Amino acid sequence: MERLRRRGRRLGFVPTMGALHEGHLSLVRAAARENDVVVVSIFVNPAQFGPREDFKKYPRTFARDRRMLKKAGVNYLFFPSAQAIYPEGFSTFVEIKPAAKQSGLFDLLCGKSRPGHFRGVATVVTKLFHLAKPHRAYFGAKDYQQAMVIRRLIQDLDLDIALRLMPTVREKDGLAMSSRNRYLRPADRIRARALFRALFQLRRQIRSGRRNLRELRLEALAELRRYVDRIDYFEIADPETLLPLRKFQRRMVVLTACFVGKTRLIDNVIIQI
Ligand code: AMP
Repeated sequence: MERLRRRGRRLGFVPTMGALHEGHLSLVRAAARENDVVVVSIFVNPAQFGPREDFKKYPRTFARDRRMLKKAGVNYLFFPSAQAIYPEGFSTFVEIKPAAKQSGLFDLLCGKSRPGHFRGVATVVTKLFHLAKPHRAYFGAKDYQQAMVIRRLIQDLDLDIALRLMPTVREKDGLAMSSRNRYLRPADRIRARALFRALFQLRRQIRSGRRNLRELRLEALAELRRYVDRIDYFEIADPETLLPLRKFQRRMVVLTACFVGKTRLIDNVIIQI
């Protein structure tokens, strides 16, 4: 990578956990458009899974992933072992911890329900950045909070990397593409649409002039409850701080995490008026 950089090549990097779908490929295509060389990593990062989460059963489809990436024209595929990333004695972690009242980046939303998750993400992404040495790194808006965490990390650690945030790719019926969608049984797959519907319905309401966020949130919760098994969170937040909003503002993000069956799904939408 160092050699390529010295030769003046622009490097685009797409970190993933594999089980690739069109969402990942959209990042790869963007990286190919904007750079000379595309590096993709596949690493199911144990450090970002809680003890009772799905690390063991997270889908691993390496042969298929590799074929997809080859077809998409990816130059380098990096798939380290857990042992290579976390050798014995590994003890340094990257933690993003803004003062609680200033920002919900770390300890609200997914940070609240998945303690240690963003610490694991920040640690592995920092390591991958050092290994891949990219000029630009590509992340999906599907994991909005994660992208904001990484933006903070890049800023705070003076990393010379441009974060490129790409739009969420959806199935025809609106469900955000996710490696975890393959866990859904057919009946759950239908119920899973509720996340997308609740988010976009709320956006429509705002666009049509409604401004009472409390009321809109309660309506969305009531609608969601009819379909999903558990709502982890559903919040209207400031897109920079991720703190929940009481009052309407011109730019907002609505984020949700819900369990459908045993599968935890997340989605979000930006609202800009
Ligand atoms: P993952 O393999 O789930 O860790 O995701 C790797 C990258 O792909 C992350 O930056 C995700 O935000 C992004 N990604 C996952 N799903 C989608 C999607 N449906 N649309 C756009 N980007 C996505």
